[in-house]
Amino acid sequence: MDQQTWTAVDQYFTSALLPPDPALTATLESSTRGGLPPIAVAPLQGKLLHLLAKLTGAKSILEVGTLGGYSTIWLARALPADGRLITLEYEPKHAAVARANIEAAGLADRVEVRVGAALDTLPELEGPFDLSFIDADKVNNPEYFRWALEYSRPGSVIVVDNVVRGGAVVQADSTDPSVQGVRKLHELIANEPRVDATALQTVGDKGYDGLTIALVTS
Ligand code: SAM
Repeated sequence: MDQQTWTAVDQYFTSALLPPDPALTATLESSTRGGLPPIAVAPLQGKLLHLLAKLTGAKSILEVGTLGGYSTIWLARALPADGRLITLEYEPKHAAVARANIEAAGLADRVEVRVGAALDTLPELEGPFDLSFIDADKVNNPEYFRWALEYSRPGSVIVVDNVVRGGAVVQADSTDPSVQGVRKLHELIANEPRVDATALQTVGDKGYDGLTIALVTS
């Protein structure tokens, strides 16, 4: 299998399962216009986040890594009217684009974008969060996961994106700090009795990667 096939299959499922969505399309377009990098989750993965939030009946969601608000919108749409989502973003420019996109999607009443390094803003939050989505700088994944766990309750779900990194995750001696961040995260999870987790490898338009899904059990 090659990238061309993965892209074609991604497009097939996207057109079969995801109706045209002007707000999400506009979010990606405004992110491109604003000069943001094209590193939002793929549409089918955004839908997976949305379904996970619905399946868990999430009323409170934490996101680490906002970019232009694409995954934020997928997640926030799963919230009830009195739900809340806090998303943390380091780059003020990304946060500004995200705020405009969230407003245009009609979700500003339940979404707050906080600007700053997530390691500085995380201690200021108040949990619990029913679902956490970690998708920022990978080197800090273990710390983000610790905070997400701190703000969880039994039954909360923590999702971490980009854990396969084109297969580089298996390279124990990698000098890539992102790979080491992902490996340290999984050592942490392996030794954490309060979570039960799995990892999924994914292929698609964005190449070969994957995500880890953890259920907080106690
Ligand atoms: N979740 C977004 C989506 O799918 O639409 C994509 C997020 S993008 C992969 C990662 C984001 O994390 C970028 O916007 C980047 O500026 C932000 N980021 C990087 N380091 C950060 C940090 N230390 N604290 C908070 N955000 C950070």
